[in-house]
Amino acid sequence: MLAIRRKGAACERGTEKYMIQEIAAHGIKPDSIRLVEIFSSIQGEGILVGRRQIFVRTYGCNLRCTYCDSPETLKESGIPTHCRVEEEPGSWSFTEQPNCISAGALTGIVQRYLIQPHHSISITGGEPLLHHRFLCRWLPEIRALGLKVFLETNGLLVDQLKAVLPLLDYVSMDIKPPTATGLAPEGTWPRHRAFLTAATEAGTTVYGKMVITAGTTEAELDAATGLIAMVNPAIPLILQPVTPCGAEQERPTPARLIQLHSRASRTLEDVRVIPQTHKMMQLL
Ligand code: SF4
Repeated sequence: MLAIRRKGAACERGTEKYMIQEIAAHGIKPDSIRLVEIFSSIQGEGILVGRRQIFVRTYGCNLRCTYCDSPETLKESGIPTHCRVEEEPGSWSFTEQPNCISAGALTGIVQRYLIQPHHSISITGGEPLLHHRFLCRWLPEIRALGLKVFLETNGLLVDQLKAVLPLLDYVSMDIKPPTATGLAPEGTWPRHRAFLTAATEAGTTVYGKMVITAGTTEAELDAATGLIAMVNPAIPLILQPVTPCGAEQERPTPARLIQLHSRASRTLEDVRVIPQTHKMMQLL
């Protein structure tokens, strides 16, 4: 169980039971999905930085990170009755479509975007694995279009990942330190390790991404590098300096980033520092 330590009484956020409650609360169905937005842009993070992608942002998340830059995906912002849909890829012109959206309608939007070349489709959120039943139903249609599938996830819903894994080409797995989530480390780290193990054994291209805040500790970095090394020390780890957002307004200093990169590189073979470049370029 992942107990939340902050904000008073413990609860079960992050557990299977909590996830089922979230799905019920959001009205999520296997044949349709509640989305926040769909658009085409350039991937600004991780190992596919610079690649053109179609982004599908799902609604709902089982975490509440201090640095969350997608608060519109959280139920505290209200359940979205409509989804923002970019009309033409790269146009920045949006219409609204009522939620929930059927698999067929969503595939139709993606097909429209393919008038321009895209490397892959990014399924992001929120936590997309809350919608694993829909993804199992829908992703075969996307792969049939020749698009690679890239999943951005908080890396905790192991069973849901296993259901979707055969349909994925890339997994960007966040590593969530306790200072960012308030989750108990004894619940988080074993789940992250099981998640990474499952993705690796399936032959998916996977990497870890850890947002570095001013409060990230060396012990947290060591825990992250240790769990990756136990699976495979060649798995890339992206250290992503936080973009000031929400409760996180202080960036890590350049010297701190160098120090953390050196420290992680003692354990892992491929450590990179990459900020959110799309925000630097004012892309979507
Ligand atoms: S996992 Fe992602 S979407 Fe969910 S709260 Fe954390 S940063 Fe926000």
